[in-house]
Amino acid sequence: MLKLNSSVKTLTGVGERYVQRLTHLEIGTIEDLLHHYPVRYIDYSIISPINRLQVDEVVTIHGSVLNIQNQYRRNRRSFQRAIIADKTGQIQVIWFNQTYLINSLKKGTKVSLSGKIDKFHSQKTLTSPEFEIIRADQKPTHTGRIVGIYPETQGLSSKWLRAKIKTALKIISPQIEEFLPDKILNQEKLIGQRKALRQIHFPPSPKEYQLARYRLAFNEMLLPQIAALKQKKQWQKTRQASPLKFPSQKIKTFIKSLSFRLTGAQQKAWQDIAKDLVKTQPMNRLLCGDVGSGKTIIAAIGAYACFLSNQKTILMAPTEMLAQQHYQTLKKLFGKKLQIGLQTSRKKKNHQKSNILVGTHSLLYQRKIVTQSSLIIIDEQHRFGTDQRARLIKPNAKKIYPHVLTMTATPIPRSIALVTHGHLDLSYLDEMPQGRKKVKTWIVPNIKREAAYQWINKQIKEHHSQAFIICPLIEESQKEIMKNVRAVTKEYKKLQKEIFPHLKLGLLHGQLKGEKKDKIIKKFNQGKIDILVATPVVEVGIDIPNATIMVVEGAHRFGLAQLHQLRGRVGRGAKQSYCLLFAPASAGKKSRRRLKILEKTNLGFELAQKDLEQRGPGKIFGTAQHGFTQFKLADLGDRKMIQKTNRAAHQILRRKISSSLKKSLKKYTIGQVEPN
Ligand code: ADP
Ligand code: MG
Repeated sequence: MLKLNSSVKTLTGVGERYVQRLTHLEIGTIEDLLHHYPVRYIDYSIISPINRLQVDEVVTIHGSVLNIQNQYRRNRRSFQRAIIADKTGQIQVIWFNQTYLINSLKKGTKVSLSGKIDKFHSQKTLTSPEFEIIRADQKPTHTGRIVGIYPETQGLSSKWLRAKIKTALKIISPQIEEFLPDKILNQEKLIGQRKALRQIHFPPSPKEYQLARYRLAFNEMLLPQIAALKQKKQWQKTRQASPLKFPSQKIKTFIKSLSFRLTGAQQKAWQDIAKDLVKTQPMNRLLCGDVGSGKTIIAAIGAYACFLSNQKTILMAPTEMLAQQHYQTLKKLFGKKLQIGLQTSRKKKNHQKSNILVGTHSLLYQRKIVTQSSLIIIDEQHRFGTDQRARLIKPNAKKIYPHVLTMTATPIPRSIALVTHGHLDLSYLDEMPQGRKKVKTWIVPNIKREAAYQWINKQIKEHHSQAFIICPLIEESQKEIMKNVRAVTKEYKKLQKEIFPHLKLGLLHGQLKGEKKDKIIKKFNQGKIDILVATPVVEVGIDIPNATIMVVEGAHRFGLAQLHQLRGRVGRGAKQSYCLLFAPASAGKKSRRRLKILEKTNLGFELAQKDLEQRGPGKIFGTAQHGFTQFKLADLGDRKMIQKTNRAAHQILRRKISSSLKKSLKKYTIGQVEPN
């Protein structure tokens, strides 16, 4: 028997070749086929009498074949010419290169045709219409109705897909179960699942199409939230952590001793974390905050609380540079009070005495100390693969889990986080430390390049500023990395020799050895380098307060969020900072308009929203990571629907989950060990 999870090849007329083609559309099962929705529709629902047809109209006619013949042109190509008649008149119909048609459309056949009226040899003509033979016992599929147009691929037309979907629906419909409780259906005015799937493909009217679309979009937003919240509950019930015990007075004193006051958002985030850490369930919190919003200090306070509880902390960063920097920051903060360790290579070192161990993913090979740690902090969490994070966060021999704090500068709007990060608790640093000046941002066309260089020269000489020059982004395959290195090296030499001969330039790229990299950053930090020419590696977290100029070459190749990250490397000190986005005129109007947004706003969340509208969520957040591929109909910008689905998810989880819902949730299950 045909089932939803049967392969498409079980459908009649779907051979190996079609199976291949369907995989290009990521269709493997009957269910996939049913979820392959039209991208648009053509309304062929009104049947026109033939004597009323007008040129340029899109129409459907019903009539019978008076005659049909193949005709040949000089280039040996053929066309098929038929005359179709109804009670009111006759019309010429033309197809091209479809000689087989004369076999299926014999004289006298009753036929329905949909298409556009043109002129052919100065006669009113229906050219290349969709057609199907009218049968008394069957509703038409491709004509005389609202017809869906599908995402196609070579050798798979909308007509073919439509026919197969119709067949599949007919057979499988009784097996399509309603998985939402009646209460939710009523409350949210949703049509049934079976009806929705039928009507998204074959809508009787535009209104019914809207209802179908709404229901299916609702599913897309709702199901991942139910799955995530369910997972969260499960973890809370089953996972044990060791509760930390720290005197809050000591934390207060430490916070008071800082050279700055925490922002309100930082205080709130710390309160959230402090509450989590004393629980017997593991913390699983994501700290979201724009570049420069001050996440590190929050991590440090957490680590201090852990130390005061006689426990160890692990802090993992995605690059050696960043790990190094965190290590220095922590050393400065805690002086000799705490032992800070650093692990950036696979080489085993003894860190048994460390209270906080900072490192790169090489920490994954330090199992012993990792399992002894009660708090694990992952910076720039989106930079790590889910399996890397999962490998770090494992229970110890006594089945005790660590508390986990992950941090990201990816500005995920709160509403969207409900859908994509429902398994986590969230804290937001949505307030910048005081006194930060807005980074002035300009798009620089090629003709102003010389002037820009002169301006930079002057800034550096007169104000002792420092600058970054970021070379264009090239894809990250191994071969391309070498290209990157060559390009940046060349640019560096040119800039040093021809443009800034009197300044000191430094070169930084991913292929440099760790020590060399650190040396260069140190020199830049000490002001011994004026301009650091670099590949986009500096995107992640380096903190040089005196750097006030960020130049990005080939800015049009970057996403807004990425550019925002780069821009975040400057504007860290008290001085006015600048970001110059070099983009050639050839980049096109659209790119320039996109870059303009950066000139106007300095807020990561706003940029994220814009990026979301322009490029879609996949490119911004990484599709695989958050299962954004599930969103075919739902719009993450639709806050109202997000609110409704979130409410529904909570309501549903208050009761026992039905077996049909469980089935629907399967593909959303978040890996058992995957904490975020
Ligand atoms: P990010 O969130 O990008 O990781 P950092 O933690 O690196 O940001 O902080 C950026 C800079 O801001 C650091 O130099 C840090 O010392 C400083 N900083 C953090 N919090 C505050 C604050 N409340 N007031 C002033 N400066 C702060
Ligand atoms: Mg940071």
